[in-house]
Amino acid sequence: MSELLSSYLAGSWFTASDEGRPVLDAVTGQEVCRVSATGADLAAAIEHARTVGVPAIQALTFHERAAILKAVAKHLTAAKDDFYALSTHTGATRRDSAADIDGGIGTVFSFASKATRELPNDTIVLDGKPETLGKAGTFVGQHIYTSRPGVAVQINAFNFPVWGMLEKFAPAFLAGRPSLVKPASQTAYLTHAVAASMLDSGLLPEGSLQLLCGSPEGLLDLLGTQDHLAFTGSAATAATLRQHPSVVYGGLELGVEADSLNCSILGPDVRPEDPEFDLFVKGVVTEMTVKAGQKCTAIRRVLVPADRVDDVISALSQRLSKITVGNPADETVRMGALVSLDQRDEVRKSVQALRASADLVFGDPDHVSVVDASAVDGAFMGPVLLRAHDGAMEPHEVEPFGPVSTVITYSSVPEAISLAAKGGGSLAGSLVTHDPAVAREVILGLAPWHGRLLVLDRDDAAESTGHGSPLPSLVHGGPGRAGGGEELGGIRAVLHHMQRTAIQASPDALTAITGSWFTGAERTVSSQHPFRKSLATLRIGDAIVSDRRTVTADDIAHFAEFTGDTFYAHTDPEAAAANPLFGGIVAHGYLVVSLAAGLFVEPNPGPVLANFGVDNLRFLTPVKVDDSIAVTLTVKAITPRSSADYGEVRWDAVVTNQRDEPVATYDVLTLVAKQD
Ligand code: NDP
Repeated sequence: MSELLSSYLAGSWFTASDEGRPVLDAVTGQEVCRVSATGADLAAAIEHARTVGVPAIQALTFHERAAILKAVAKHLTAAKDDFYALSTHTGATRRDSAADIDGGIGTVFSFASKATRELPNDTIVLDGKPETLGKAGTFVGQHIYTSRPGVAVQINAFNFPVWGMLEKFAPAFLAGRPSLVKPASQTAYLTHAVAASMLDSGLLPEGSLQLLCGSPEGLLDLLGTQDHLAFTGSAATAATLRQHPSVVYGGLELGVEADSLNCSILGPDVRPEDPEFDLFVKGVVTEMTVKAGQKCTAIRRVLVPADRVDDVISALSQRLSKITVGNPADETVRMGALVSLDQRDEVRKSVQALRASADLVFGDPDHVSVVDASAVDGAFMGPVLLRAHDGAMEPHEVEPFGPVSTVITYSSVPEAISLAAKGGGSLAGSLVTHDPAVAREVILGLAPWHGRLLVLDRDDAAESTGHGSPLPSLVHGGPGRAGGGEELGGIRAVLHHMQRTAIQASPDALTAITGSWFTGAERTVSSQHPFRKSLATLRIGDAIVSDRRTVTADDIAHFAEFTGDTFYAHTDPEAAAANPLFGGIVAHGYLVVSLAAGLFVEPNPGPVLANFGVDNLRFLTPVKVDDSIAVTLTVKAITPRSSADYGEVRWDAVVTNQRDEPVATYDVLTLVAKQD
């Protein structure tokens, strides 16, 4: 008998008390492992996540969490070959496995790097700018994101056993939430191998990752308001989960990513001799055959102008005829097996349903010639292309989760949009066109129905990542039938796991709560210039109030001549007088900012290493000849970099005139040494 997969729960490996159910190799039909969770103490696992995992992760800053993720990704990269070997049991070719294994590890790397660059080295995130709530500036609003004391449970699909876990784990971990992963039983052995490698690495704080191989029965009963359940799989299971009392009454957040009938549209401008025609055909064939079409983003509906349908079908058929099917261990094989014989039966049933209103134009759902004769027991199926009858509804409703697509014709752009919308909401869509007007009309029509859209043409083709690849930095998920959930999308995915709260308070209270200085809060002006302080002694609120400087007509003329910025408002008194906003010569905004730098700078070598930019620069009041300006510079935020001996300091800069009116406001961004 094969190995019974263990689960990692509440700090130790657990093996079920029964024999479990067998999981068969997709290619050979041999037993790979057995799966059962009988006897697992799920209540202890959830308690462990909340009481051990939550405090352990939340004691770390975002940058420390990111450093752990990066180390985990490196660790997994080193063990990749083992995962590839296991992945062939799922029916995957090397290319399919790359999308799952390298795609998953790459997603962890990407989140680690994004978090280091885009999140503070802190445990909370400020959302947007402060809102002034009182005229005197003593009552201010600020939205903040904080980590929740709950667990992120994943119930995953069989088709991406590695990527499915890692793309959910990375953002949850960054957000301070421990994960409990329940992989689909059919491919759980691969998820198990990767999770075991992560746990064995010793890199993760205890409690941050748990694994449940087997039935999750009773799990949802244990979850509540501070927890999150991310589900990927069938719409039917999603519907069951949506009705669970913990979701309906208990405040459990549920994110669903379910089957969707994604489309690719050939633009009306594209003729068979255009490069876009080939790109379209290649894209459809790739999506039909990668992972044997078992991808939530695969192209199920191929929308083409009615007068080009024969050309498209002929080009697709020609390409599909070159797809070799068989044992993925054979390097000549282009398409492996479906994940199981049951899954193949399901796909055949779907093809049967589609044939009620569509003709088979390529392939045979019931027979396929297989490259490696020793693998004839596998769940193989060749690519199948159908052509829908006019007005057919089945192609918009039936999802064959395999190498199957249906060609549908349209006669106008509005009709193409309305056909795409009949899918009821999709994860991904693509449009192949080189006409900007078509791109705008179609994309604006499609966007409300999609989570992600690719516009493919000769200009972006070489770098395009294709129709079906979710990317860590872009949103993955779609409305309606696609489940309504949203994953990935860079830091958005982290923030989805956190609670956004509006805080109303005085500037001093907000400064204390957030660790960032707010306008109106106390400043510390001392005899020591803050540029003389390293991060060891620099504090939020440390400030310098500069002397005044008069801006003369000569200053403005000199700046105009020196920089070449001779815009009339700075050089032509008559024209400037006619300007309704200025009524006379005014200083260049950049002159004001440059003079301000001259007013606040401390010129000697010291802990300030560089100025790497300004944010939010606004010129509020024109500076006229002989106005005098001064600047107040205050430490607003300090972000030490974990991997360097310096950090970022954000300074609030306010330039005022002799009437104390603000003439310019901005944030100055500097790099400052950690030690003197
Ligand atoms: P399921 O919805 O049956 O399974 C998905 C996950 O949910 C698995 O981990 C499964 O566990 C678990 N599960 C099943 N029933 C329950 C339940 N009552 N409570 C909690 N968890 C449950 O989908 P399949 O994997 O069987 O695939 C069926 C169809 O779903 C495919 O043919 C395809 O149409 C669609 N699908 C969509 C995907 C997408 O990414 N959008 C991906 C994969 C499939 P277990 O494996 O142990 O049963």
